Amino acid sequence: MNKAETNQNILIENISRKEKLERNEIEFLLSLSEKDDINQLSQLANEEKSKHVQNITYFRGLLEFSNHCEKNCFYCGIRKGNQHINRYQLSREEIIQAAEFAWKSRYGSIVLQSGELSDAKSVNFICDILQEIRQKTNGELGITLSCGEHTKENYQRFFEAGAHRYLLRIETTDRELYYKIHPKNALHNFENRLNCLYLLKECGYQVGTGVMVGLPGQTISSLAGDLLFFRDFDVDMVGLGPYIEHSQTPLFKMAQPELSREQRFHLTLNMISVLRLMMKNINIAAATALQAIDLMGREKALKAGANIIMPNITPKKYRGDYLLYEDKPCIDEDAEECKDCLDWRIRMIGDEIGYGKWGDSQHFDKRINP
Ligand code: SAH
Ligand code: SF4
Repeated sequence: MNKAETNQNILIENISRKEKLERNEIEFLLSLSEKDDINQLSQLANEEKSKHVQNITYFRGLLEFSNHCEKNCFYCGIRKGNQHINRYQLSREEIIQAAEFAWKSRYGSIVLQSGELSDAKSVNFICDILQEIRQKTNGELGITLSCGEHTKENYQRFFEAGAHRYLLRIETTDRELYYKIHPKNALHNFENRLNCLYLLKECGYQVGTGVMVGLPGQTISSLAGDLLFFRDFDVDMVGLGPYIEHSQTPLFKMAQPELSREQRFHLTLNMISVLRLMMKNINIAAATALQAIDLMGREKALKAGANIIMPNITPKKYRGDYLLYEDKPCIDEDAEECKDCLDWRIRMIGDEIGYGKWGDSQHFDKRINP
């Protein structure tokens, strides 16, 4: 190791151990691109993970219960305007069956995710399935909801029906970039999406948000702004992953990302590591999209500070129709195969699995009981 390398290592370590990171320090860490530097940052974040949330990975069985969506986000494969996919909606029975699978497999929690539909029938359906899942699993399954923007009244109804965590990615906190990747209309309003995060907090949810990394036109400064927003908003959970092109979307046709997929992958790992250094006791998901780029993507994220993984429990026959992005992994496996595969993958990296536990955000507990 030469002298310059040693100085760089010392700098990375000193910054990483600081109590509160400044914007320029965040930008410095995010910009690290040499393999050894990325690994060092990853290890430092992993140390903080061990100290504050232990080396335990919690499972959230991901059930993509409907791909109907009234929105037209420019990057997403299931946007309303994509007429090349079969639209589906799982029946109540299929949803309950999947939830019972997760419960019996001792996953601890599930995430119910879908496109965004705000009509009364869809909202009532979500309330009904939440209640039924609670009842059929003796209230033992933690439930996260991720079905987009709703009114406060609807968020409250979902909460009362049994959802206690909500995931709504802000996608980017850079307003200008937000409007480059969404149509500019009332359905895709940045302020409204932001406001939804505040409404979710008011309703009592553990609130999760996140961004896509490596979007066309996104800068390191913009990503640093995202991390600062997570800290200022005092978020409980974060799910962030690389942007991956989908050829049937307007964004694919409009602009290509400046970064290669590999660069987006490494930048995502850096985002996770820096976030763990900044917010030591939140839950951070190892996004499935990472695995679309690197077969060991999620495991690498767990080694870089993430502590949540979302095994897919959507029935196999629907998986090919929930392609938010291309090259989505595990679309040919059923839930049982995913379970066994993940079990050994996680043990291999030295983490324990929090079987049968909700694995709530410790940050949330401290937030409500300071
Ligand atoms: N409809 C809900 C939840 C489903 S979409 C919502 O939008 O909140 C879940 C997430 O998938 C989105 O928040 C977005 O960050 C991610 N996503 C969509 N298209 C993507 C793409 N092309 N690459 C990477 N992530 C994508
Ligand atoms: Fe619909 Fe969510 Fe995709 Fe936007 S990101 S088009 S809201 S599913």
